[in-house]
Amino acid sequence: MEFKKRDTFLPYGRQSIDNDDVKIVSRVMRGDFLTTGPTINAFEEKLCDYTGAKYAVAVSNGTAALHCAMFAAGVGRGDEIITTSMTFAATSNAALYLGAKPVFVDIYKDTYNIDVSKIEERISKNTKAIVPVHFTGQPCEIDEIYELASKYNLKVIEDGAHAFGARYKGKKLGIKSDFMTLSFHPVKHITTGEGGAILTNDVKAYEKMKLFRSHGITRDTDMLENDDSPWYYEQHALGYNYRMTDIQAALGISQVDKLDKFLKVRRELSEYYNKLFEDNKYVVKPYQLDYVESSWHLYVLKLEFEKLTCTRREFFEQMRELNLGVNVHYIPVYYHPYYKKLGFSKGLCKNAENLYENMITLPLHQNMKKEDVEYVVSCVDYLIDKYKK
Ligand SMILES: *Cc1c(COP(=O)(O)O)cnc(C)c1O
Repeated sequence: MEFKKRDTFLPYGRQSIDNDDVKIVSRVMRGDFLTTGPTINAFEEKLCDYTGAKYAVAVSNGTAALHCAMFAAGVGRGDEIITTSMTFAATSNAALYLGAKPVFVDIYKDTYNIDVSKIEERISKNTKAIVPVHFTGQPCEIDEIYELASKYNLKVIEDGAHAFGARYKGKKLGIKSDFMTLSFHPVKHITTGEGGAILTNDVKAYEKMKLFRSHGITRDTDMLENDDSPWYYEQHALGYNYRMTDIQAALGISQVDKLDKFLKVRRELSEYYNKLFEDNKYVVKPYQLDYVESSWHLYVLKLEFEKLTCTRREFFEQMRELNLGVNVHYIPVYYHPYYKKLGFSKGLCKNAENLYENMITLPLHQNMKKEDVEYVVSCVDYLIDKYKK
């Protein structure tokens, strides 16, 4: 069979920037404040308006957001956090930054999110927080997780890098969260180049994160201990420089206005993938709970390689050969040599490992057309036809 390969490369994720974005950014660039100015506050307000969260803190990236949230949740040396290994390493790295230890719990076989029934047995006297990741944009079992957290007096830090705008039982994520972190990396739903934010509903946590974002230094005269001279400032914690620029915040404001439009396209394209894979016995489509609305950051396809004569690697390489920016999300975090050195080893999370062995992330972003989805599916079909037993 002759197969017509497309001429251009289709990446798995890509930003959408238009003239409005460029206009608002250039206006801020010609203004008085390039950083720590009013555009940051306006962006934070916008994030609160959109999600319903009480407070938002804009930071330099999603990893910094996780670090800030863990600091404010009181995670420190010798503590433990409970999370999933089916995530980007940044999630658990943030605990390591603070001298804490990640404890990995396996995922559900269907939603690929953290298996809540396996969390309780891993809670110890050192556990400080549960850190669920809304994988691919599908919300975790938030009600059960918060119930457990309140029973054991733990904080919940939701890694929402995939889930901006997602809904759980009709409500937007973030609206009641202890902490929910966001990333504005170009492959995510909206972008600020690099960027991130933390949503919270706790004023004390909000104040701590603002301190942590800027060296742990305050100029708030109510907080100063030594001196209240007009030039005086004080360092109260070991913070970092995790500030976002006003230039980035301007882009963020403009992008939030388009988020609903982007989410609609992502949802339609995902539904179209599902429809085209409907009768395919060689693939497992991303299962969705009926009381959630995913924000569809990723479209993860699981293949039944036991019914095929090729390996995942061969399948992957041939998809790339067909000009498709396929990817694999994620390598279980504890596979990394750095984590091995910390004492983790294979076999820890069987479902996550099985998913990793059989998954491929297909291209999905708001710049794609239905024809792009059709092309991707025709490539999957072509390879299945070529390799089926
Ligand atoms: C992207 C991502 C991050 C990190 O965000 P950055 O902005 O790249 O630092 C953290 N967790 C998850 C699940 C992500 O996908």
